[in-house]
Amino acid sequence: MIREDIIELFRVRAGKSVDLKDYNSGWDQTEEMKELGKDALRGRARQILDQNLTDLAEAQELLYADDRHAVLIVLQAMDAAGKDGTIKHVMSGVNPQGCQVFSFKKPSAEDLDHNFLWRYMRCLPERGRIGIFNRSYYEDVLVVKVHPELLTAQRLPGDVDGKKLWRRRYQDINAFERHLVRNGTIILKFFLNVSRGEQKRRFLERLERPEKNWKFSSADLDERAHWGRYMRAYSDCLSATSTKWAPWYVVPADHKWVARAVVADVITTEIRSLDLKYPEVTDEQRALLAEAKRQLSAE
Ligand code: ATP
Ligand code: MG
Repeated sequence: MIREDIIELFRVRAGKSVDLKDYNSGWDQTEEMKELGKDALRGRARQILDQNLTDLAEAQELLYADDRHAVLIVLQAMDAAGKDGTIKHVMSGVNPQGCQVFSFKKPSAEDLDHNFLWRYMRCLPERGRIGIFNRSYYEDVLVVKVHPELLTAQRLPGDVDGKKLWRRRYQDINAFERHLVRNGTIILKFFLNVSRGEQKRRFLERLERPEKNWKFSSADLDERAHWGRYMRAYSDCLSATSTKWAPWYVVPADHKWVARAVVADVITTEIRSLDLKYPEVTDEQRALLAEAKRQLSAE
C-alpha cells in the first residue's frame, strides 16, 4: 500500500482552488522519493502494483458477493496520457464479469437530444460491479468549454451565458454524484496529469513506430494546440467538483509505472475500506445444504 500521506498529496481536498501549474507530473513527488532515486522507486511501484492487483481481485469478488455497493471509476486526461494502458493493467486481475468499461466519444444525435448526463446515466455500474468511464460527463465541462461552439448542437433553451452555464453544470454534476453515493455507489475520479513535453514524446513515438501508427490521429494535434485552455478548464473543473463524497485524484502520469501504482492503490484501498461481507447463511439454508450433501453422497 502507498502511505496515506502520499495518497493525500494527490487527492484534491473539497473546496481547494486547483492550478495545475502547481502539480508535478513526474516521479519525484517528495524529498523522500528524490533521495530514494528513480530506479528504486520504480521497483517499489511495481511491487505495490502487483500486490494491489492480487488484493483488487479479492476485493472485487467480495464486492460482487456483498451486492450492496457499485464502484464508478472516472478517468479523464489529455490524449496519450495513458488512460487505456491504465485500465488494461489495473483491471488485469479482475474477473471480467464484475467489471464494465465504457469509452465515451463524440455524442451521437440521440445523445444530443437529451440532457448532458443522460448517456452516462445509462452506463452506470450495477450493484456489485466496477464500472469504468474512459472519458465521462466531465467532457461536457472540458472539451465543450474549450470549444463552446459544440454547445450549438446541444440546443439549450434560453440565453447560454458562459460563466453561469459552467457553474450550473458543476452543480448538476456534484448533485448527480451525491445522489449516486447516497445510493451505494463509490465514485473515484482520476485525472492523469501528463506534461506537454511528455505528450509530445508519446505522439512522436506513435509517428515513428509503425506498430503504434494506428494510435495517432491528427485531431490529437488540434487539441494539443489548445493545451493552455484545457489546463484552465481542468483546473476550474477540479476546483469545483472535488467533493467529500466524490474526490478527484491528480495522478502524476509522465511515468506509466507511477500512474498505474497510484490508481490501483486508491481503488483497492477504497473498496477494502467498505464494510463488505459475504452473505450470511441462515439456519434454514444450512439445513438445505446439509440435505443436498446427504443426497449427493448417497448417489
Ligand atoms: P483513444 O484516442 O485512445 O482511442 P480517446 O478517448 O481519445 O481514446 P477519441 O476517439 O480519440 O478517443 O476521441 C474522443 C473524442 O470525443 C475526444 O476528443 C473527446 O473530447 C470527445 N468527446 C467525448 N465526450 C464528448 C462530449 N460530451 N462532447 C463533445 N466531445 C466529446
Ligand atoms: Mg484520442
